[in-house]
Amino acid sequence: MKKAEILVLGAGYGGIMTTLHLQKMLASEEASITLVNKHPYHYQTTLLHENAAGTAHQDQNRVNIEEVIDTKRVTFIQDEVTTILTEKKQVLLKNGRTLSYDYLVVALGFEPATFGIPGLKEHSFCIRSINEARKIREHIQCTFARYHHEKRDEMLTIVVGGAGFTGIEFVGELVERVPVLCKEFDIDPQKVRIINVEAGPTILPGFAPELVEYAYNYLKSRGVEFYLKSMLKACHSDGVTIAQGEQEEIIKADTVVWTGGVQGNSLVSQSGFPTQRGRVEVRKDLRAPHDDHTFVIGDCSVLYDQESGRPYPPSAQVTIQQAETCANNIKALLKGEALQDIKIEIKGTVASLGSEEAIGVVFGKMLVGKKAVLMKKIIDNRYLFMLGGLGLLLKKGKLKLF
Ligand code: FAD
Ligand code: NAD
Repeated sequence: MKKAEILVLGAGYGGIMTTLHLQKMLASEEASITLVNKHPYHYQTTLLHENAAGTAHQDQNRVNIEEVIDTKRVTFIQDEVTTILTEKKQVLLKNGRTLSYDYLVVALGFEPATFGIPGLKEHSFCIRSINEARKIREHIQCTFARYHHEKRDEMLTIVVGGAGFTGIEFVGELVERVPVLCKEFDIDPQKVRIINVEAGPTILPGFAPELVEYAYNYLKSRGVEFYLKSMLKACHSDGVTIAQGEQEEIIKADTVVWTGGVQGNSLVSQSGFPTQRGRVEVRKDLRAPHDDHTFVIGDCSVLYDQESGRPYPPSAQVTIQQAETCANNIKALLKGEALQDIKIEIKGTVASLGSEEAIGVVFGKMLVGKKAVLMKKIIDNRYLFMLGGLGLLLKKGKLKLF
């Protein structure tokens, strides 16, 4: 019998964890496994806000893919996927190669949702990859370095659009980074403005009011200016236009970071999958509709919670659980067994506010301050352990727990 060919696209949370499960559960006579990723490294998307602010170096947050996979079992190809041809069961890569598969796992992650806001694509940064995060860090640092030559106030203004998790976690890092930059470049910290613009009435929508208040008061005490009930309407080369009701205001800023929402990788809809906000609504066994050979997981997929009727938020927590079910179901297909339905268990959520503060809900219990910070570190460390065992945890983990 022909050996099955399994092709995994993307080596973020979804792709790498599916690959690790598959390499453990399938013998080499049963299937060949190929993993394709743009970069030679895997990174924790959940830590990119630290790299973007400059509070943690990107090398702490990335690991060579070939160090964590079994290269005797898995073929790794560093390349960019350009098209998925499901009818032909083929994938085209940027360097001209065509890969064939029997089973496909699409785990290509997210891209920023810009909602057609004029100028955002051209004039703002987004926290979406190591390369983008590094660009943000370097831009802020260079702008501060140039300040004494040009002396424009807007050089020291950083606007963050959106006060969801990403926006708030980034702002939390900035309040730690800015004093260091001010010292380095002899800048009066009073001149620096960190502005967070949010369309809704509160930051961190979805959290209990007391947790939101805690986060808001902490960040405000560290100098963050909040513009709530304020829409970022346009982005320009020298700032943004925001609107509160009918009233519009222009804020001049050399740095604008957009964290106003995410959608699935557009390659997925361009390849003909039916999508909502770039995400494929997968069946309970994680396969794409009308395609028994393609699994879609992570931020490219959408899955509904049967109890609430609402979609699960795109998160690493959900993606890691999907990866396990996806691998089990590929094995079941190979063995002609029944597929299992995904069961998502949301254990909790923690939002960091820099390295010293955080808020969260874990197993239904609200946490703030040091306890929430500790919980966040445990979550991050647990993932590293799952990915590369004790060795990787000791190398890359957040080991200073208190
Ligand atoms: P990703 O992890 O983003 O991986 C996608 C991979 O595909 C990447 O390696 C990318 O390089 C690769 N790729 C993309 N396009 C191509 C292509 N064309 N060809 C080849 N390779 C390609 N969730 C939580 O649960 N907890 C958190 O604390 C948390 N914090 C977050 C903080 C930030 C700043 C952000 C942005 C998100 C956070 N999330 C968090 C959400 C979480 O990171 C995502 O839900 C998760 O990364 C989704 O996993 P994924 O595998 O779908 O995508
Ligand atoms: P989000 O969609 O959660 O938040 C975007 C925010 O931007 C919203 O509050 C929205 O009201 C606001 N917004 C949208 N358009 C706007 C406009 N024009 N002007 C002003 N504000 C505007 O997006 P996110 O924060 O990038 O998070 C994406 C996903 O990643 C979430 O589902 C989340 O679960 C996950 N995530 C989790 C964590 C964590 O668990 N710690 C951290 C980061 C991200």
